[in-house]
Amino acid sequence: MAIETLYDKDGSINALQGKTVAVIGYGSQGHAHAQNLRDSGVSVIVSNRRESANGKLAIEHGFDPMPVGDAVAQADLILITLPDEVQPSVYADAIGPNLKPGAAMGATHGFNIHFKTITPPDNVDVIMVAPKGPGHTVRSEFERGGGVPCLLAVEQDASGQGFDVAMAWAIGVGGGRAGVLRTTFKDECETDLFGEQTVLCGGLSELIKTGFEVLTEAGYPPELAYFEVCHELQLIINLIVRGGLNYMRYSISNTAEFGDYYTGPKIIDAEAKKRMQQVLADIQDGKYAEAFRGDYAKGFEWFKKQREADHNHPVEQVGKELRAMMPWLKPVVV
Ligand code: NDP
Ligand code: MG
Repeated sequence: MAIETLYDKDGSINALQGKTVAVIGYGSQGHAHAQNLRDSGVSVIVSNRRESANGKLAIEHGFDPMPVGDAVAQADLILITLPDEVQPSVYADAIGPNLKPGAAMGATHGFNIHFKTITPPDNVDVIMVAPKGPGHTVRSEFERGGGVPCLLAVEQDASGQGFDVAMAWAIGVGGGRAGVLRTTFKDECETDLFGEQTVLCGGLSELIKTGFEVLTEAGYPPELAYFEVCHELQLIINLIVRGGLNYMRYSISNTAEFGDYYTGPKIIDAEAKKRMQQVLADIQDGKYAEAFRGDYAKGFEWFKKQREADHNHPVEQVGKELRAMMPWLKPVVV
């Protein structure tokens, strides 16, 4: 592999010995980092609102959630696991003013550091351990004795110990058991945004909706359309994740595989690729980050409108009814 990949043997949890780690936010990532590090013998404190569901969970898990400033003032490593849009104001109000010189600030996604919406002082380390999986998997794999692969980066190394501390953190959450890929805040942040916008979330949602619309507008029953453009995705994704496109194509019928080559490039054509390249350029030059932060400043006005508009899309209505017929999917209604 072109990228440097590190394991437990390439670092030591000892770099966190005698240090205090503050986990700010006890959500998806926060609860996993806090518990995994504690189980790895690290001294961990948590900051979260005590009355919220996450706050109550932290208390149930034996932590004593405290205000952000109090946690930061005691900590040698501060993990910011708040939603990205919330981080700059919490940093300005309570993290920045309480940072100990020589402390390390840790991010699980490079967004705010890379786009400079948080600019830590020169006397702290700025590091990242970004698990390539949701927090509940980071926790459950660790409990099973495994771990989720992580990306590791050191953006600022004031102490000269930035890498050692980041590696100890990655080992402590279980990442070193699976593989820790060394990268930069820039690469992690830009590829993450590109992937979620063009393929994983944006691309896929539009593909499903448009496929559904074409079939139903042509008079086909919505139930059939749902099965064909949404439900069966799971089958295909599982094959791809386990064995790549080759395994998916090996498993499907020749009719389907022929159609894959025959039609796929007509949908995702050279123009679509050009638009994807434009999306990447907008991410790289900060246009996307500006749009996201600008809308957040207006109370996420545009964002909420889009969410509302898609919430009752016909594919969602029929999907809800069909999923209820398949209890083994453990259907969730949101
Ligand atoms: P969540 O939304 O799951 O958790 C957010 C936490 O922040 C909650 O504990 C919440 O507390 C607290 N919080 C929210 N708003 C505020 C506020 N205004 N003031 C104080 N506390 C607040 O976040 P994620 O774990 O999803 O994301 C955290 C970071 O991890 C982000 O940088 C994200 O990009 C990154 N990341 C996330 C992944 C994921 O799978 N979710 C994967 C890899 C990285 P309360 O319950 O009190 O509201
Ligand atoms: Mg992402």
